Amino acid sequence: MNCNNCGRVLHERSRWRMLPKADRVALRHGHAMHMGRGLCHGCYSRAQRDGSVIDHEATVKPWAYVLDEWKRLADPEASRVENARRIAPHLGMTVAALERAVTRHREDVAA
Ligand SMILES: [Zn+2]
Repeated sequence: MNCNNCGRVLHERSRWRMLPKADRVALRHGHAMHMGRGLCHGCYSRAQRDGSVIDHEATVKPWAYVLDEWKRLADPEASRVENARRIAPHLGMTVAALERAVTRHREDVAA
């Protein structure tokens, strides 16, 4: 996934933060942490300052849609993490975001 504004390669926040600082500095050109709405940290901050964040489409999917797709695609034999890894790209979500959503709505998923 690339930043919709500057095209830098986006990394999930948790993965980006786990990289040693030297690696983040080395990767700075052409890579960035995903902040939200398909934007890197820098572009998101700029958009927030100039009030144009709202112009960028939210990447968060309504839970009802995510739940339907999860129920349709999740393999009951596989773990939540394995399912999240497989289904997240299909939903255009990061693995971490899908895992968080599924964890937050455990009761709905089990139903
Ligand atoms: Zn950017």
